[in-house]
Amino acid sequence: MEFNWPQKFRGAVSLTFDDGLMSQLKNGIPLLEKFGFKGTFYIIPRDEEQLKTWKEVSERGHEVGNHSLKHPCSSNYPWYQDSKGGLEDMTLEEIRLDIVEAHNRIRKAIPNGSKTFAYPCFQTSVGRGLGKRSYVPIVAEMFVAARSGGAGYPNSPIACDLHELWSCSADSMSIEAMIGMVVKESFKGRWVIFTFHGIGGDYLQVSEDKLISLLEFLDENRERVWVAPVVEIAEYIESERRRQHI
Ligand SMILES: [Zn+2]
Repeated sequence: MEFNWPQKFRGAVSLTFDDGLMSQLKNGIPLLEKFGFKGTFYIIPRDEEQLKTWKEVSERGHEVGNHSLKHPCSSNYPWYQDSKGGLEDMTLEEIRLDIVEAHNRIRKAIPNGSKTFAYPCFQTSVGRGLGKRSYVPIVAEMFVAARSGGAGYPNSPIACDLHELWSCSADSMSIEAMIGMVVKESFKGRWVIFTFHGIGGDYLQVSEDKLISLLEFLDENRERVWVAPVVEIAEYIESERRRQHI
């Protein structure tokens, strides 16, 4: 089965940035804009001042998505230091309220924000063992699409779950691996989503040079690869699936 990408595009790439970091504002966004690309920024809404900054980013055509309010992750991570209160101890209703609160705060400041979601720490369930429950259905009710981790594989526009999209962590890949991924997958019909955190600063850093090299490659291949925010590509896939009865 073939999927029809728009224009002459063979596949797609989305550049996503988590946690609303200063280095993204300072280093990442100017680089994207230098090459004329739009990214997706998954923020944790804290206060009005911070939301004002991201509103300006959204007004320049970037997507501002939802990354929850408390960023709940598994309390099995060492930084929880054997305490409780992470995803294992949360209910579906608790995680829903957290995401709704983040959604309301973002929407109040940024009317076209919070259309897609990024799972904190790429984790998608609450509870333990027999009581473990996926919160993907809760996210699916509220958002056009949602991004997870997925061991660094691309997404099939025909088969993927738009509410548990897979992504590749840019900080753990070499630039050769990133470009190779685009050539191997996006040139052959798939949608590669890269997840970034810090750009030349903060944590899980990717250097500015590495981002520039990727952007240069994407720029040289603008005719072949559709580089766009998650919401734009997800909406296209959804409408095309309907049209093609996929
Ligand atoms: Zn995060």
